[in-house]
Amino acid sequence: MQFPLELPIPPEVLSIAKRLEDAGFETWCVGGAIRDALLNLENSDFDLTTAAPPAEVQKLFKRTVPVGIEHGTVAVLDAHNQPHEVTTFRKDITTDGRHAVVEFGGSLTDDLARRDFTINAIAYHPLRHEWRDPFQGAEDLEKKVIRSVGDANWRFQEDYLRILRALRFSARFEFRIHPRTREAAKANAQGLSQLSAERVRDEWFKGLQTAARPSKLVALWRDIGATRIWLPELGAGSTEHGAVDKLPRDPVLITAYLAKDPASLLTRLKCSNKDIERGRAIGAWRDKYPDATSAADVRRWLAAVGEYADDLLSLLRAPRSVLPQAVARIRQTNPPLTLKDLAVKGQDLIEAGVRPGPEVGEMLQRLLDDVLDDPEHNTREYLLSRV
Ligand code: ATP
Ligand code: MG
Repeated sequence: MQFPLELPIPPEVLSIAKRLEDAGFETWCVGGAIRDALLNLENSDFDLTTAAPPAEVQKLFKRTVPVGIEHGTVAVLDAHNQPHEVTTFRKDITTDGRHAVVEFGGSLTDDLARRDFTINAIAYHPLRHEWRDPFQGAEDLEKKVIRSVGDANWRFQEDYLRILRALRFSARFEFRIHPRTREAAKANAQGLSQLSAERVRDEWFKGLQTAARPSKLVALWRDIGATRIWLPELGAGSTEHGAVDKLPRDPVLITAYLAKDPASLLTRLKCSNKDIERGRAIGAWRDKYPDATSAADVRRWLAAVGEYADDLLSLLRAPRSVLPQAVARIRQTNPPLTLKDLAVKGQDLIEAGVRPGPEVGEMLQRLLDDVLDDPEHNTREYLLSRV
């Protein structure tokens, strides 16, 4: 691959690089933005790597955030408060598969050598317009392959997350994984169990969002053995025919669609309670769609599934289902669906003689059932006459 003579660098990034260079610290653009530029893909998230130690970076810029200072990463805020990550040249010293203990003071080449894949280990000098590609990342971009920098076995054992990153990049760019890298990923899959649920979740969700086809990512996770460890609820279910690829790109929704027991999977991934509840509702309701020809049935269903109605509609497997239209028609009329839509409140019932206490709630529920059958019944007069 011929490197472009010059790469367009956002002015904010350029000015950060210039200040560091003027202070005598070699500074290069690295990472995803360089890779994506060579692939002609949009990516304005430029990472800088520099010889300046973190303390020097903090001294040179007025406004910085120590986002990962133990790894040598300082975010420099530009005039628009946008953060730009500046990381000091690092070399890994020791590792336990989850955390790398890093040492500063290395060279650019040391820094590139500790990056995960060759396509992520290309550097561009924003002022001198020079390129450094000691691991032939550009060649791998051309050949469409994901290949570990150095010995794949060793690199995965340093940080098992790299296995999942390989799958993500493979599914995103539709690159194959180099045979030795793929074999090492498989051989080290058991190490994935050491990772924190949060890192795995972020990787899985990002993978689903960025994959050219989510079904491909699922197939890769299965093949490598990652599903067995972190997503056992996915079972051996088939993702053939690409039904999953037609869903909205919402990782919680896709995960719930794929899992036998979505709530238990989302709990393992330490998702928010909101996401877990969403998964639980999808699991509970996805086989219980109403009869689209009965408006009362559809209204009762809408009342029962509440905020999850649209999720459930988007998961409808039957390609010619008329339920979405039936729901749209019913929503247009904005019928009462919840207790608070009723034309009477608990207090009205008490005034009409219902004993305060659980009976009030039971009565309201009965009135709502009636109104779901026939929305015309939602008048104060009619409802009080039923009390
Ligand atoms: P994306 O487009 O998803 O942001 P990226 O390649 O920029 O892709 P980041 O997670 O932003 O990925 O990381 C930036 C760079 O840092 C990577 O390109 C890679 O060089 C390096 N890197 C990130 N995570 C690791 C890791 N776990 N091990 C080794 N190097 C890593
Ligand atoms: Mg990035």
